[in-house]
Amino acid sequence: MKKEVFVLKGTLEVVIGPMYSGKTEELIRRVMRRKIARQNGIIFRVSSDTRNAEELVVSRAGTHLEAKIVSGARDAQMYLDDKLDYVAFDEIQFFESDLVDVVKKFIDVGTDVIVAGLNLDFRSEPFDNVMKIAAMADEIALLKAVCVVCGKDATLTQRLIMKDGEWVPASTKDPIFKVEGSDVKVRYEPRCKDCWKVGE
Ligand code: ADP
Ligand code: MG
Ligand code: ZN
Repeated sequence: MKKEVFVLKGTLEVVIGPMYSGKTEELIRRVMRRKIARQNGIIFRVSSDTRNAEELVVSRAGTHLEAKIVSGARDAQMYLDDKLDYVAFDEIQFFESDLVDVVKKFIDVGTDVIVAGLNLDFRSEPFDNVMKIAAMADEIALLKAVCVVCGKDATLTQRLIMKDGEWVPASTKDPIFKVEGSDVKVRYEPRCKDCWKVGE
């Protein structure tokens, strides 16, 4: 008689929000609980996220955990056969669209997936792969930051560029990701809808 092996599917937890809303902090908190439960897993970061070169995820609150830096979702896929309890991906907007498939594959082999990322870019347009993954979620946490201008809840990310010695709102025609090596000074702030502005 053919023996069927029944595998329970993994769950998908999605953490989204603007910059500074505590996404990485929340991802770390969720992974920490799993470590306490003696689960095995890996946090992945993509190498195009150049903010820190160390094999860590670091929240702005200072908490950190070990992470594997990969060049893309395909590298993470190599851990499919390891039957990990969970995998986590931070800053998923930096991954290519193949992350959607890789997330599905982990779920199919019974590995839980936790992801964190921006829901909207600086133009307030959704990130395609983030939305596709959010659509498959078992649970979504939408986090808010504090608007740096007025103190209300911030749901948006403001991009500012240095122009003639002043920080001004970026134009929506600018590239979504800051072009590597460009000498335009850029910074980001969490803002509420009323304080979020579009430049020329
Ligand atoms: P994210 O990954 O969403 O960018 P982090 O988890 O790295 O956010 O950092 C969240 C932490 O940032 C907060 O717990 C708080 O300590 C700090 N922080 C600094 N400025 C702000 C702000 N304007 N709104 C919310 N949190 C802020
Ligand atoms: Mg983060
Ligand atoms: Zn505001």
